[in-house]
Amino acid sequence: MNSGSAADFTQINQFTNSSSGQSDSWNNKRIVIHVDLNSFYPSCEELRLPLLMGKPHAVIMTHEEQGRITKGVVASCSYEAKKLGVKSAMPLTSALKACPDLILNRVDIPYYLSISEKVLNILHDYSDILEQTSIDEAYLDCSKKIHALTIHKDQARDADDSSLTTRPSKIESNAINNLSYSHLIEDFAISIKNKIKKECGLLTSVGVASTKSIAKIASDFRKPDGLTIVLPTEIPNFLQNLEVERISGIGTITRRSLKLMGIETIGQLATTDVQILVQRFGNKYGIRMWKIAKGLDEDLVQPRGEHISLSTEYTLPAITNDQETLLAHFNALTDELFRRIQRKGYRFRTVGIKLVHADFVVETRERSYLRHQETRQSISNAIPGLLQKFYSTTSERQEMQVVTDIIEDKSSNCSTDLFVNAPVRKIGIRISNLILKRGSGLEDGQSSMLDYL
Ligand SMILES: [Mg+2]
Repeated sequence: MNSGSAADFTQINQFTNSSSGQSDSWNNKRIVIHVDLNSFYPSCEELRLPLLMGKPHAVIMTHEEQGRITKGVVASCSYEAKKLGVKSAMPLTSALKACPDLILNRVDIPYYLSISEKVLNILHDYSDILEQTSIDEAYLDCSKKIHALTIHKDQARDADDSSLTTRPSKIESNAINNLSYSHLIEDFAISIKNKIKKECGLLTSVGVASTKSIAKIASDFRKPDGLTIVLPTEIPNFLQNLEVERISGIGTITRRSLKLMGIETIGQLATTDVQILVQRFGNKYGIRMWKIAKGLDEDLVQPRGEHISLSTEYTLPAITNDQETLLAHFNALTDELFRRIQRKGYRFRTVGIKLVHADFVVETRERSYLRHQETRQSISNAIPGLLQKFYSTTSERQEMQVVTDIIEDKSSNCSTDLFVNAPVRKIGIRISNLILKRGSGLEDGQSSMLDYL
């Protein structure tokens, strides 16, 4: 990507031109903003040690807890180090060969998380829906906020114009409207960048588009400190000559396969017969990459945590099918899981349990609350019912679904007699549909990015 030297100004790309830019509008379109914190770990290190600024330095993943770092892998490095050939995931020895003066710092996730939370609190104020996808990236759906701003602006303009005898024609009104949208979106995005720079001391690359995938490609387009806005009408022009690997999820292997098919740009991907892509990559991925190339993906911005989970499991000291014994072990596991939930500041909607039988058959049962929960009791109260479901007949299971605030039950491997016949060797609890409690300070733990692993 375009990772040149650190720019001291914001590079703004408005993908529009005077003819087509005015002919369509953001009206009725989603406005999705992707924010990427530039060189995040090294920038955090510069915040606490400003002497590092302008120098080649790297953040190292290492098992050495103290003293000089002699072994490890580069997690991330400053732009100055990148220019000298240092890369993420490079072994430390190779990094030092490329840059003997490289300054090293240990990865400090709790510290980076505390900075990430500050940024997230800023982004909350700018978004209708906020989805954090990693410690340094987030999507904002700002449609309602920005559409509301245009209405205010229009009302103010109407009030100013009330003394005029001639009103603008409909075509002129649309042109003014589109112009005001573009300006508003630009001002809005610049304001996000400036606020993060001022209050957190960090540079961002920001992309604005009507879909998530294009917003992400746009934020990657200019780094560092870039802003790229892609008008809905300009999506085909914007994507036309970009390499296919700009699409998130297309890695080296898919890129090579596509190259063998004569497809190297997103424009070429968009004009390929979708059936050919389905034959080569399967229904799901074939259609997905084609839709993104066409600018047609409809993925929603989802609040952070809706698609992640926390789980824990425990191998029993002896295999058993005694329900009381299992409940006691589940109780101990609940303590451990609940501590992690609290530390991370999550609320949850779904509680699930897993049994691994002596013959290694795995069964799961889960239930979801109507509303997000945050107490230990909400987990522990759900477990006896879930365990009971391994015994239940279909009619009993349906009855339990009526329980006041629980809306859905999901099970895998529902054979009802399996449990009785096959004792259990391992148990697990999984909670999902997580959201972050507003304003919760994260003290410890992994980033949500690491939770995906
Ligand atoms: Mg980043």
